[in-house]
Amino acid sequence: KEVPLALTPNDPNWDSDLVGVAPGPRMNATFVTLARNSDVWDIARSIRQVEDRFNKRYNYDWVFLNDKPFDETFKTVTTSLVSGKTHYGEIASEHWSFPEWIDQDKAKKVREDMAERKIIYGDSVSYRHMCRFESGFFFRQPLMMNYEYYWRVEPSIELYCDIHYDPFRVMHEGGKKYSFVLSLYEYAETIKTLWDSTKKFMKNHPEHIAKDNSLGFLSDDGGETYNNCHFWSNFEVGNLNWLRSKAYTDFFESLDHDGGFFYERWGDAPVHSIAAGLMLNKSEIHFFNDIAYYHVPFTHCPTGEKTRTQLRCHCNPKENFDWKHYSCTSRFFELNGMTKPEGWEDQVQ
Ligand code: GDP
Ligand code: MN
Repeated sequence: KEVPLALTPNDPNWDSDLVGVAPGPRMNATFVTLARNSDVWDIARSIRQVEDRFNKRYNYDWVFLNDKPFDETFKTVTTSLVSGKTHYGEIASEHWSFPEWIDQDKAKKVREDMAERKIIYGDSVSYRHMCRFESGFFFRQPLMMNYEYYWRVEPSIELYCDIHYDPFRVMHEGGKKYSFVLSLYEYAETIKTLWDSTKKFMKNHPEHIAKDNSLGFLSDDGGETYNNCHFWSNFEVGNLNWLRSKAYTDFFESLDHDGGFFYERWGDAPVHSIAAGLMLNKSEIHFFNDIAYYHVPFTHCPTGEKTRTQLRCHCNPKENFDWKHYSCTSRFFELNGMTKPEGWEDQVQ
């Protein structure tokens, strides 16, 4: 018998908080969070929301990763909140350090210069390790190897609406490899040569470029320059096998050797986004309109009052970032021939 993808408001289980009432087969999937021990109360808030809005009905596992050992408080609090199994991993030092080819003096001068120019996280070594780790290593940690799909969750995020279907199953059944809820323009000073490195990679590896790619999302001049559009990677539901593919890892190794994680401050968001935009077909990138989300300072609140009341959302629709001028989501819709939701014009600012 066909199992419906989502519950409807008429379903007797719509308002049920019971576990195990979710329809459909389970996916081979996990939540994943990179965090410090000091993040415990901020991640506790995120977990509570993910559980209340979704996972209490699905009980997916949760993998926690840290460059230091997790302490007992972190493990006790998070295990008590997660309805699935929890796993705790310490990151190997080669995934959280300077590669040998990096010139330490040059990297230090960059940090001093960025500090003076007040570039956000510009002076931070740990932030750079974090961005490099999220770009190249989280998906090949031993604890991640048995899973096919992941959902990244950061401290202090909010989920504003109930989720009445399994996003992992949406990915699986739709052949999706990467997804997003918010998109915007990257701070250009942090990625000055990222596109040069990308062009070098495209030239060296034409075999990795997808035929029906989203170059039009990333560039306004046919690939000459980067328009800085990226999917915001603090929320991601994606396919781990894609990140572990030769195409993606060749891209990461190439960028890593160019040194921009340390000589600039390349973020994992533009790195993932450029990879998805060039190496996936358009149909493999998914926009989750009905996952209402906040990470400081941006909100994705679904357009459409009916959706918001049915899903018991608690976000203010005026705060929805999607159609504001600093968002790239309009561009994504246009590139993919998608119809913007009713009322979007009223939100342009
Ligand atoms: P922002 O969202 O770009 O402002 O950066 P965050 O401070 O939220 O960091 C992104 C993610 O990496 C969050 O999940 C943090 O908990 C985590 N993170 C950042 N720095 C470190 C670090 O030095 N060690 C560990 N273990 N996690 C970190
Ligand atoms: Mn964050």
